[in-house]
Amino acid sequence: MQYTTSQSLFERAGHTIPGGVNSPVRAFKAVGGTPVFLKSAEGPYVYDVDGNQYIELINSWGPMILGHAHPLIVEAVQHAATDSLSFGAPTRREIEMAELITQMVPSVEKVRMVNSGTEATMSAVRVARGYTGRDKIIKFAGCYHGHGDSFLIAAGSGAVTFGTPDSPGVTKGVAQDTLTAPYNDLAAVEELVAANPDQIAAIIIEPVAGNMGCIVPSSEFLTGLRRVCDAHGIVLIFDEVMTGFRLAPGGAQTVLGVTPDLTTLGKIIGGGMPVGAYGGKKEIMDFVAPAGPVYQAGTLSGNPVAMAAGLTMLTYLHEHPEVYTRLETVGKTLTDGLRQGLDKLGLRYTINQIGSMYTLFFTDQPVYDFETARQSDLMAFGRYFHAMLSRGVYLAPSQFESLFLSTALTDELIDRIIEAHQDALEEIMAE
Ligand code: PMP
Repeated sequence: MQYTTSQSLFERAGHTIPGGVNSPVRAFKAVGGTPVFLKSAEGPYVYDVDGNQYIELINSWGPMILGHAHPLIVEAVQHAATDSLSFGAPTRREIEMAELITQMVPSVEKVRMVNSGTEATMSAVRVARGYTGRDKIIKFAGCYHGHGDSFLIAAGSGAVTFGTPDSPGVTKGVAQDTLTAPYNDLAAVEELVAANPDQIAAIIIEPVAGNMGCIVPSSEFLTGLRRVCDAHGIVLIFDEVMTGFRLAPGGAQTVLGVTPDLTTLGKIIGGGMPVGAYGGKKEIMDFVAPAGPVYQAGTLSGNPVAMAAGLTMLTYLHEHPEVYTRLETVGKTLTDGLRQGLDKLGLRYTINQIGSMYTLFFTDQPVYDFETARQSDLMAFGRYFHAMLSRGVYLAPSQFESLFLSTALTDELIDRIIEAHQDALEEIMAE
């Protein structure tokens, strides 16, 4: 494959954009080489500026659960744009959106729309602090909750990929209020709670982690967190920016059967437009201004075009539960095929999968937290990434990410991915 146009664009971008990209994970820093500059997309495919076609397994890091450029969503956006690009005033669509979200995610009784997952998590934590009158939060090592200051402590995703899980620029005061525990380690959480009596406002967690690669929690862990929060008046926040509307219409919480107090949403909720949301118990959400004293606002929040895209996406998912049956099958068929490929070569790498999320970790040990994820052979991952890319399969350019499958993946494309995987493994083993 030729990447000459991407290479010259990346060189040019570096002069005026830090690192040449507007979000760090887009740079291929962890895997080496030049990021591919994309131009268009349709269904299961993306096309780069050099004319190369790739089967997509990132899907804009989650939103494109129906594949790219779904005609219903594109039409809804075009239609909404002719009415207005932005009012900064209330619209009917925002109520329809809130009603649909509260219907699909039963633990959400009231919801506020924002413009990104980062805004959603920052705001949810602020409300939890306002509601409890406490300052500290507990998060889990390797979980990523956007780039709000409170979360850039032992953060996953790009933060760990680039070696900055604790970012400079976060004040000591903020850092002191974020306590961290290993994922899947209830005893560690109980110790933190005991050591900080009446000081913990919230525990925030990805109920299925995607940002240290895909990790599914043990059911005792999540039920244990619920119990600890109930016993100590702590707000339990599920960050479902990745998992919301992806693992089920009601998110990971309905799949795993544990109900949080607050939920943060993003990605799919905007159908590809910049949208986030946070919501939960009425009693807590009524602390948000103008109903209550906790301030949170946004010029473009509830933007009419973004709402049109999101509402069309959620309505489709609500009315087509077969989407989730198909995604279950796609996830299982694909990862079974990948495992067979590994077995054939006598490789014992670990694949974690749930529904349409999975990660192939280059380690033969089980991966259940950040430390175990870190045992992966990152050099091998990088070689595999490029071997797949050159065979027309676009993966996330870091080991510490989940992949996101879409309904646009046909059985024939799944077979093509499995074939590419087999060839790619053979290539990297021969090196
Ligand atoms: N929470 C989770 C679980 C995420 O995966 C992400 C982004 N990948 C965020 C929050 C932040 O969302 P955004 O990038 O839209 O700010």
